[in-house]
Amino acid sequence: MDANPERLVDFHTHSHYSDGVLSPAALVERARGRNVGTLALTDHDTVAGLAEARAACDAAGMRFVAGVELSAQWRGQAIHLVGLEVDTTHAGFNAHLDGVLERRRARLAEIGDRLERKARLPGRELATLASRSTSPTRLHLARLLVERGHAKDTQDAFDRWLNKDGAGHVPAEWPAFADAMAVLRDSGALPVLAHPHRYRLSAGGLRELVAAFVQAGGVALEASMAGMSPNDADRIASLCRRFQLLASMGSDFHDPSVPWNPLGRWLKLAAGLEPVTQRLTSPAR
Ligand code: AMP
Ligand code: MN
Ligand code: MN
Ligand code: MN
Repeated sequence: MDANPERLVDFHTHSHYSDGVLSPAALVERARGRNVGTLALTDHDTVAGLAEARAACDAAGMRFVAGVELSAQWRGQAIHLVGLEVDTTHAGFNAHLDGVLERRRARLAEIGDRLERKARLPGRELATLASRSTSPTRLHLARLLVERGHAKDTQDAFDRWLNKDGAGHVPAEWPAFADAMAVLRDSGALPVLAHPHRYRLSAGGLRELVAAFVQAGGVALEASMAGMSPNDADRIASLCRRFQLLASMGSDFHDPSVPWNPLGRWLKLAAGLEPVTQRLTSPAR
């Protein structure tokens, strides 16, 4: 780190307002300690942590980017859209978030119900506990299943109980991709397609998703993420070039006890890719 004093950027992180485990202030403190100079907080479907994160970044002399990670549906698949520089005062944007949080709570309740009926687990109790988060996710439930000894780790909890074929599988019904894109655009946020390498799509399917994203006003792909393979990075870099999209980069940090995606970690950007940083208007530091 001493040999490279340049401060890092991270445009994809979570706090306990969604499925991260740190408070926004603790997240910022940890980022500062890892030499992150520009930080976006991008909680799932909520902006509740942004004010606290902004105040902490201001106090720490870091550049803050107000963000969100929206859940959306495209051809039956859950797709995540990061919005950078979101306007937390925009009525349509806030109404959209309220609708998604309502769906999240209803989905968790239904998952809890199924776990109770089909697997005889204390599903209703765990769903109630998980729903205490502003933006409750299946990861909250997975952590509780681990805590209570029903899975060995969160991946096992997803595999055993929550994913397809699990007793608690409830398909998500997120807002349509086009609607989520429209709300980002209309509220003045920069739309970024989150972790395109992680979707279960063929090469042609991914190309069609990216084309739809461009059509709807998308500006960047997450082209460099912690944990991305060099092969994935190549595929996404090609899509950036082909569609003339900028590159965003981040860790998707949730939890300090997960070792592979610490704050500020991502692969070096492939040749010819331009970072989304150039489109940001929030004050630099
Ligand atoms: P949800 O948005 O409620 O479906 O919850 C999904 C969240 O769980 C994602 O944002 C991930 O952070 C997390 N997660 C962790 N492991 C898995 C997994 N194996 N499958 C799906 N989601 C996972
Ligand atoms: Mn998450
Ligand atoms: Mn995501
Ligand atoms: Mn994320």
